[in-house]
Amino acid sequence: LTDEAQAVLDEIDEKDVGFLRLQFTDILGTVKNVAVPADQAEKAFTDGIYFDGSSIEGFVRIQESDMRLIPDASTFAVLPWRNFDDGASARMICDVYNTSTGEPFEGDPRYVLRRAIDRAEEMGYDINFAPEPEFFLFEEDEDGRATTDTGDQGGYFDLAPKDLASDVRRDIIYGLEDMGFEIEASHHEVARGQHEINFEYDDALTTADNVGTFRTVVRAIAAQHDLHATFMPKPIPKINGSGMHTHMSLFKDGENAFHDEDDEFNLSETAHSYLAGVLEHAPAITAVADPTVNSYKRLVPGYEAPVYIAWSDRNRSALIRKPAARVPAASRIEARFPDPSCNPYLAFAALIHAGLDGIEKGLEAPDPIRENIYEFDESKREEYGIETLPSNLGEAVEALEEDEVVMNALGDHIGEKFVEAKSQEFEEYLVDVSDWELDRYLETF
Ligand code: GLU
Ligand code: MG
Ligand code: MG
Repeated sequence: LTDEAQAVLDEIDEKDVGFLRLQFTDILGTVKNVAVPADQAEKAFTDGIYFDGSSIEGFVRIQESDMRLIPDASTFAVLPWRNFDDGASARMICDVYNTSTGEPFEGDPRYVLRRAIDRAEEMGYDINFAPEPEFFLFEEDEDGRATTDTGDQGGYFDLAPKDLASDVRRDIIYGLEDMGFEIEASHHEVARGQHEINFEYDDALTTADNVGTFRTVVRAIAAQHDLHATFMPKPIPKINGSGMHTHMSLFKDGENAFHDEDDEFNLSETAHSYLAGVLEHAPAITAVADPTVNSYKRLVPGYEAPVYIAWSDRNRSALIRKPAARVPAASRIEARFPDPSCNPYLAFAALIHAGLDGIEKGLEAPDPIRENIYEFDESKREEYGIETLPSNLGEAVEALEEDEVVMNALGDHIGEKFVEAKSQEFEEYLVDVSDWELDRYLETF
């Protein structure tokens, strides 16, 4: 056993942990659990825990039947919202292995991200990520089902008592802190019922793990208050949707490789190339970072979500923004197009590979756009050479299939399954008849 694993065993004893949830995610980013009695922990570290992958529900599932989970000791955390008399529950995030070959399972999203991080490491880079997941808190109806009522009249940065959800947000923050999160800020977002809680940046893998944990904690604690937390990108039309802005920076030899004092934007050549790589592959990344039919209802002009493929050092309408940095170590770029319905492992892997591709090819970023791009007409966009993001999931999946870099980022197994699942999702949507259509046509014709 490693020291870290031994420390986990000690903590299990000390905290009287009865059950362990061994977690991993499916292709869609849903957190899956295999629960084992805590006395299995040692065996989990040494041999792994075998489970039948074919029993996992969901459209896209890990098909191969026999899988082995090996917990990552560094992810051990006692679940703060599950403290019963018969002992606490804890979780560990696992890597999935093929039982027959003993190799990492290619269908494990965490492995996809590990591969991206390895590529960066080979090029000499450590990667830091910080996401800003936004979400809505909605009331439940009498049957406990989610509604889209907010009961919350607060606006951006409004203070209590107007912001009725602030108590819930406070409890969510305590829950996150209990799980080891360092919370940097939290605020009411622009839309009613919408919130954002920011946590400290970390390496890309830890951050992707954190996104999964974050979504779980937010939902669990909201539910304790009889509220439904949703990370659906656009639950209410005509107001802001929920994004998951993703801040990124590369470090080399402990120094921020994105920072350059002498550059007009304080961005190094490396940063410019990385940014150019992300812009170049943006349509394909969108399929992964904005992976639902509903995602494209958010990516429309006028709601602080990006539509056009451009970057800016000022404007929030751009796909990538360069936020002001107080110190060189904080120089970074913010991808504004991902939304919180994505599988963070896959979305981060796609972003990393696209950025590294830009660095490898020495791509040059275009000039930043400083005006509000929403207000550009087509001729002005043409003049600036600004392309648009895919306008629906179908177009995004097509762009993905054509993009070798992003397909390779996902790997054959997940690439193929992802395209299949998302094509089917889009086709189902296309043949459905929506409330909007009924409202508009049923009585007119
Ligand atoms: N909610 C906006 C979005 O969909 C972002 C608002 C902000 O700048 O935080 O991306
Ligand atoms: Mg925000
Ligand atoms: Mg932001």
